[in-house]
Amino acid sequence: MPAGKPAGVRCAQLTADNRCAIFGDPRRPAVCASLQPEPAMCGDDHVHALAWLTALETATQAD
Ligand code: SF4
Repeated sequence: MPAGKPAGVRCAQLTADNRCAIFGDPRRPAVCASLQPEPAMCGDDHVHALAWLTALETATQAD
């Protein structure tokens, strides 16, 4: 996404089955490549992962 991905907006590179379409591609943003996922973040399904991401966005949003 040329201007960056706003919080709460689905990434344009995310496929219908929630995979990164540019995984392993040098065009993938550095922040994505540097993320170290862990079981607490991912949980057992995408519902848990989205709730985790939403909580992070809420906790770090500017006033
Ligand atoms: S890893 Fe980054 S580029 Fe790929 S889908 Fe997720 S946010 Fe988008």
